[in-house]
Amino acid sequence: MNKIKIDDLRNVVKEAYEKVKGIQGGKNADYIPFLAKIDPNLFGIAVCLPTGEVIEAGDTNYVFGIESVSKVFTAVLVLKQYGAEEILNKIGADATGLPFNSIMAILLEKDHPSTPLVNAGAITADSMVKPIGDSEGKWSAIIDNMAALSGSELVLLDELYKSETATNFNNRSIAWLLKNYNRIYDDPDMSLDLYTRQCSMGVTAKQLAIAGCTMANDGLNPVTQEQVFDPELAPKITSLVATVGFYEHTGDWLYTSGIPAKSGVGGGVIGIMPGAFGIAAFAPPLDEAGNSVKAQAAIKYITQKLKLNIFRNN
Ligand code: GLU
Repeated sequence: MNKIKIDDLRNVVKEAYEKVKGIQGGKNADYIPFLAKIDPNLFGIAVCLPTGEVIEAGDTNYVFGIESVSKVFTAVLVLKQYGAEEILNKIGADATGLPFNSIMAILLEKDHPSTPLVNAGAITADSMVKPIGDSEGKWSAIIDNMAALSGSELVLLDELYKSETATNFNNRSIAWLLKNYNRIYDDPDMSLDLYTRQCSMGVTAKQLAIAGCTMANDGLNPVTQEQVFDPELAPKITSLVATVGFYEHTGDWLYTSGIPAKSGVGGGVIGIMPGAFGIAAFAPPLDEAGNSVKAQAAIKYITQKLKLNIFRNN
């Protein structure tokens, strides 16, 4: 990858913000009532460097629903607790090519949920979080891990949690289908509740950029200087994100943007450029696959303008 000049990066983040903020198109997720009500004009971009510097533009301190981006965090936690091989055996590390909430993700590969980054595998991941059988202990492990990766605590958005709990019928079926295939390792209702709660955490683009940089920086949080996970796990995490971060549009995303990234229906996207930076963008209106229209445009603008690409050799 080419050497990034920090001044260029600062300028291009500003430019991306100005160019993308007027883009229309997409709409807020409406299957979760809370998300439908969020101001669709909110938009922010944050880039965190291994020095701990965070470059910001727009609404980078607005607290929004982390949603599916939380799957990356809990994947890190179970990788830490079980190691890379057991996660491969119990969940899998494959692309699904399917929507985030697909029940098929369980049935594709000999009853494996395929990856911790779609709902089926994420619910399995929550079931695996230790201490097994202890809902509060598991929850503490989940939120402590989120705080360690992002350098500060995240807060539960109670209204979002209630809104999701009242409407998560599809996820309930996924949890019980996992039980049917012996691919859930704790109580299914408890695992589903932990999954729903983690998706309902509030996060800022700035926190996501710092978490992305921790992952890009071999597990060393650039702001707190805490070694959050074993550097050996870093390429495992980035490869999971690269293969399924945008669900059925992951290949298109990687082909056009050159950066492994993960989206959530709250409008957030986290991107990992190994050795270089973590990036996040947030804007609520989504395309038909559930990925933020402006966040995608902003991140692509930055990587393309600076010719930053995980697959480039220069
Ligand atoms: N809580 C959401 C769900 O499971 C997360 C979906 C997403 O962000 O892709 O339906």
